[in-house]
Amino acid sequence: MTANGFARFGTDYVGKQADIDELNTYNDLPAGSSTSLLEPPETTSTKLSDATYRGRFMHGKVEEYEATLAAYRLAYDGKSNNHVRALMDCRTHATLQRDSVSGDVMVFGDSCRDRYCPMCCAQKSAYAKDQAELYIKTLKSPRFLTLTLRNNESDLKTQVSFLQQSFSKLRTRAYWKKNVSGGIWFLEVKRGKGSGLWHPHLHILLDGEYMEQKRLSELWEQVTFGSPILYITRISNLDNAALYVSKYSAKPAIIKNMPVEDGAEMINALFRKRLCGTFGTAKAVTLTPPKVETENEWDYIGHYDDIVEKAKTNSAARAVLVAYNAYEPLSLQAYEDFTGHPAGFVSKMSEPKRVDRQLYLDFYH
Ligand SMILES: [Zn+2]
Repeated sequence: MTANGFARFGTDYVGKQADIDELNTYNDLPAGSSTSLLEPPETTSTKLSDATYRGRFMHGKVEEYEATLAAYRLAYDGKSNNHVRALMDCRTHATLQRDSVSGDVMVFGDSCRDRYCPMCCAQKSAYAKDQAELYIKTLKSPRFLTLTLRNNESDLKTQVSFLQQSFSKLRTRAYWKKNVSGGIWFLEVKRGKGSGLWHPHLHILLDGEYMEQKRLSELWEQVTFGSPILYITRISNLDNAALYVSKYSAKPAIIKNMPVEDGAEMINALFRKRLCGTFGTAKAVTLTPPKVETENEWDYIGHYDDIVEKAKTNSAARAVLVAYNAYEPLSLQAYEDFTGHPAGFVSKMSEPKRVDRQLYLDFYH
């Protein structure tokens, strides 16, 4: 197993070992001193001992989450829509389960995978960074290329379509084909600081040979009918390249930094448009975490949020949390101590009925 705390809770997740130590050391409290087990408070925190499962992913992202909901509501004219429901439901039904052979504890639950969900985007970005790192290590001289269009008053949808078409055209040109063997591209959307006009960019991590900026710029001007501006730089620090990928793979813009009308316009303009892609030697790089299937036998332990709440007064619950967070197997005895019955005893009947899809969220294992 990979001991990678970031994989589970995104890049905001720090202090994992200290949290585990805390869980291991504090004393049992008298029963009844905790709050209701039925409705654990949605505390956003990275601490193991006090946050709901969703709350841990939501930590530091509440503003972006609220802004995204508002933009979706406006984009859909205030009507209730599936995106709003998906975001509100994301990661609310997580359960912990124990591998009946290895004793590993995993989380099963539903994530919305919406393209603007801040929780899913953070996880996607951490995944894309890891995938890109493997690719970047294989490159001799990676480069960054930024492609833009000259200021124009077209709406965002028109500009993004034109930018993407022009990029496809550029890739058919002989000079490009001779010097570029592959890459990963990302769309970024912003408004020009001075002009206030929409200004989409393509950020591209390139695998290839040296290209003259002037020559490339002429080609770009030809395919865009008049936009000569581009930036190309050689990457000397490979870590920066991976950070670049993680930054741009999250989403095309931070919605909380724009007026809600712009957020709604962006959502509509980019509907069914690709936000990132790979080509050539990067074709095999995946930027979105795959849904992981498991054929192992799993014993249901409990709802994640209930276990966190119980752990405030109950050492058996704390043992479950520690095993999960420290990537250590949970012994049969510890399983029994918490659930009150032996492993293998639990039937599907004891799983919460409201969970109609059980997706495996710990895709890093
Ligand atoms: Zn989500």
